[in-house]
Amino acid sequence: MTYSTTTPLNIEAIRADFPALDQEVHPGKRLVFLDSAASSQKPRQVIDAMSDYYRTSHANVHRGIHVLSERATAAYEGARDKVRAFINAASRREIIFTRNTTESINLVAGSWGRANLGPGDVVVLSEMEHHSNIVPWQILAQERGFTIRYIPITGTGELDLDVYARLLRDEPVRLVSVMHISNVLGTVNPVAEIIRQAHAAGALVLIDGAQSVPHLPVDVQALDADFYAFSAHKMAGPTGIGVLYGKRALLEAMPPYMGGGEMIKRVTFEGSEWNSIPHKFEAGTPAIAEAAGLGAAIDYLTAIGMENILAHEQLVVDYALDRLSEVPGLTLYGPAPERRNGVASFTLADIHAHDIAQLLDAEGVAIRAGHHCAMPLHQRLGVAATARASFYLYNTQAEVDALITALERVRKVFGI
Ligand code: PMP
Repeated sequence: MTYSTTTPLNIEAIRADFPALDQEVHPGKRLVFLDSAASSQKPRQVIDAMSDYYRTSHANVHRGIHVLSERATAAYEGARDKVRAFINAASRREIIFTRNTTESINLVAGSWGRANLGPGDVVVLSEMEHHSNIVPWQILAQERGFTIRYIPITGTGELDLDVYARLLRDEPVRLVSVMHISNVLGTVNPVAEIIRQAHAAGALVLIDGAQSVPHLPVDVQALDADFYAFSAHKMAGPTGIGVLYGKRALLEAMPPYMGGGEMIKRVTFEGSEWNSIPHKFEAGTPAIAEAAGLGAAIDYLTAIGMENILAHEQLVVDYALDRLSEVPGLTLYGPAPERRNGVASFTLADIHAHDIAQLLDAEGVAIRAGHHCAMPLHQRLGVAATARASFYLYNTQAEVDALITALERVRKVFGI
């Protein structure tokens, strides 16, 4: 088979922006980084933005009437404007900065969920969810007494939408909380349709966008999502900052999640009056340098173009799926290439995924092995662990070839 190598990206120039990619990790072994679904590498534009911020502009935000405080506030609030534009939210007030996707989901559970869910209510999740979109709901269900139902996955690793429709028809569903793209299967879920059906049944929808916002254009208004959560560190930005998008009316009606400075208008000994959104949900000193880094990451991805990034990654992932499917003894998980994005999870005969990852590391190839924070999904797949190669804008088909060559070595070592 011949493969297209026509990428819309200037891949050499892009790779030159990411200092961490240019290194040997063992003598004579250059790094082949195939673990971006866990966390992506950072371009120098992001590293520089954070370092420049600390060198020239750091002070606390919002409070001080001096130049550095104004600069810090501009960096922080400027990042909020960039996030708003990037996901096409209607208002900057709908962008809440959190620590990561996990905290964004916990915020919705702890605020909206605690105020609105009780016995008799149903929250619908799916069998492919990350622990961060299961555990907060389990904790809250114990406290509030509602029921959790799971949309099953089909044999091809897609959501069973017939069961979903039945759940919406037969049960008092208040909230549907599902991932946009699976971090294990790569499945791109039909979230627009999932949201349409939930709204028709009177339920709200939270989308876990940890694996989608880094990889494809996301328009929260076109999707009509009620809540949308993601992390900066998977989209070329820094760790320590994430985003919760929420529709303005919902956020305004929700109680605070944490109490402290910034989130109040007035405090007396008797009680407090909450600040307006987004500040109501941002108690304490926020991650200011990280916001500057996230803003730079958004500028970087936007300049390249999310459509171009998506097209390039599709090329690399399609090639990886084809090449991996030719490896004797290898089982791939997830749907057909046209319905997936970003990751290729596999097992190789009965070799433990950790052994695969360790031998690949010796060849310079970085992948992830384990349950990828999706133990229930692995239980459903009938495997304890998978090996996962994941791809981003800086990966190439040549790196896929390096993965395949390293897997040949694994097969030799294990005699299969
Ligand atoms: N959801 C999905 C689909 C993910 O892939 C991840 C990260 N592996 C998370 C949620 C959690 O993200 P974070 O650790 O940044 O909170």
